[in-house]
Amino acid sequence: MPLPPRRSGLDEGLTMMVHEWLIQAGAPATGARQTNVVWNARMRTTAGTAQPGTSRIELNPALLGLGEAEVHRTLRHEAAHLLAHWRAGRRRIPTHGTEWRQACVDLGIPGERATHTLPFPRRKMAPKYFYQCPACRLTVRRVRRITRATACLRCCQAHSGGHFDSRFQFRRIPPPAAGSAQPPAG
Ligand SMILES: [Zn+2]
Ligand SMILES: [Zn+2]
Repeated sequence: MPLPPRRSGLDEGLTMMVHEWLIQAGAPATGARQTNVVWNARMRTTAGTAQPGTSRIELNPALLGLGEAEVHRTLRHEAAHLLAHWRAGRRRIPTHGTEWRQACVDLGIPGERATHTLPFPRRKMAPKYFYQCPACRLTVRRVRRITRATACLRCCQAHSGGHFDSRFQFRRIPPPAAGSAQPPAG
């Protein structure tokens, strides 16, 4: 996936858009017009947040890499939090309860999921541990530390009838310098 464009700060276009949506959904005009939509480049896996106290909606710029529809859907999700909060007045309501679901219906996203996680998978964990066979110099990399005695299968098969042989036990080596060729995944 290409890197999404980075954006930060107030988005006037989306701010005007969300004012329209909120007013059409029956939100109080004062609340709707105070709502701001801001890109927050520090967000990592969170798609968006809504702060009823300040009527501020923050969006993750990574959404831009998923297309306009995903930006708008997330914006409606967050706007529904504000709308539900305004309707509830001083009453405390659950974050993704009945009131929020009704607000989603009114904002055109019925059946919206109750999660704020970006709808793409997190990056795979990079291997941090590197090991090498002392005989054939085969290098393997692992996400987790090897805790049991583990030997090079290739050498054990070639020299020990396929049985574990401590002569071919993997030894921890420092990770290769950045930019050098990556050893094959083990
Ligand atoms: Zn939510
Ligand atoms: Zn080996």
